Amino acid sequence: MKNKTRKSVLIIYTGGTIGMVQNPITKTYEPFNFKEIKAKVPELRRFDCKISTIQFSPPLDSTNINHTDWIKMATIIGDNYVKYNGFVILHGTDTMSFSASALSFMLENLQKPVIFTGAQLPIGIARTDGRENLLTAIEIATSEHNSKPSVPEVCIYFENKLYRGNRTVKNSAEYFKAFQSFNYPALAQIGVHLNFNFDAINYIPDHYPFTVHTALDSRIAILKFFPGISKETISLVINMPDLKGLVIETFGAGNIPYNEWFAEVIAQLIERGLVVLNVTQCITGSVEMGKYKTSETLAAAGVINGYDITTEAAIAKLMFLLGKNISRKEIVDAFRKAICGEITIVNT
Ligand code: ASP
Repeated sequence: MKNKTRKSVLIIYTGGTIGMVQNPITKTYEPFNFKEIKAKVPELRRFDCKISTIQFSPPLDSTNINHTDWIKMATIIGDNYVKYNGFVILHGTDTMSFSASALSFMLENLQKPVIFTGAQLPIGIARTDGRENLLTAIEIATSEHNSKPSVPEVCIYFENKLYRGNRTVKNSAEYFKAFQSFNYPALAQIGVHLNFNFDAINYIPDHYPFTVHTALDSRIAILKFFPGISKETISLVINMPDLKGLVIETFGAGNIPYNEWFAEVIAQLIERGLVVLNVTQCITGSVEMGKYKTSETLAAAGVINGYDITTEAAIAKLMFLLGKNISRKEIVDAFRKAICGEITIVNT
């Protein structure tokens, strides 16, 4: 007799090291199709849940993934939302934090788990981390608590930890613990049991309508400050034709070298409608504009406080908000609060 409560998971295989094989001639790793993964993980057949797969064609090294692929992923989830209990996205680690951030904004009022995972070593290699990551991600995607999905968020699962996707950064190109969430606690720690940190998980009320947003505006840039940065370098970035949004990566609590020229130009651009967001280069802590003289002029010019947002989430949120075709004021207001847990606002 068929088990009616049998759960179902859709695996979206976008590519990444997990499914790569070594080219025998060039010795470089190249993405391969999902069959390769299935053959190497026979345990997949032992799960008491229905597993379906959709594969990107061709599978991509995530270095080549861009915002059009985020739209593809979000659309696949939207099209299949009612059919599955949860979703696992197999993705390269290089840009996984960007993709997870983007999907967290694009999938509004998400009530089901969307778990990104991948590997540092291909699944065909004996010491691979991919097998455990994949199997646990599926288990998390089908896990329930009080008859509801345990973690209805866009997450990254890697090396025993489950993180809110838009809080993560890839911080190691070497170790299996490739991701960190410096400003927000892990949503689960996996050992013998799946130990969820329920207090840290976002639960959306049932009656909020799930909506997929697919309009993104990529006319944005990042300007990373460094000691000795020249006026020419800054000019090149901020005078890009058709620029709509700019993330400035600043020092410490949001500081830039004291520079009247820059503040004036930025004020003019903001007056013309440009959205400028101040994100710290520090891995922990938050922007506090006005704390030092070196950031006072930015606040006065109308630069937006990025608080403790990661650069990855800032890029995604900026593309998402610009894509909505709303006023500059509405965008500024949306940056003052968390849309899906991407910033911590401490009321002072
Ligand atoms: N370059 C690979 C990718 O991001 C690295 C990985 O998967 O770990 O697709």
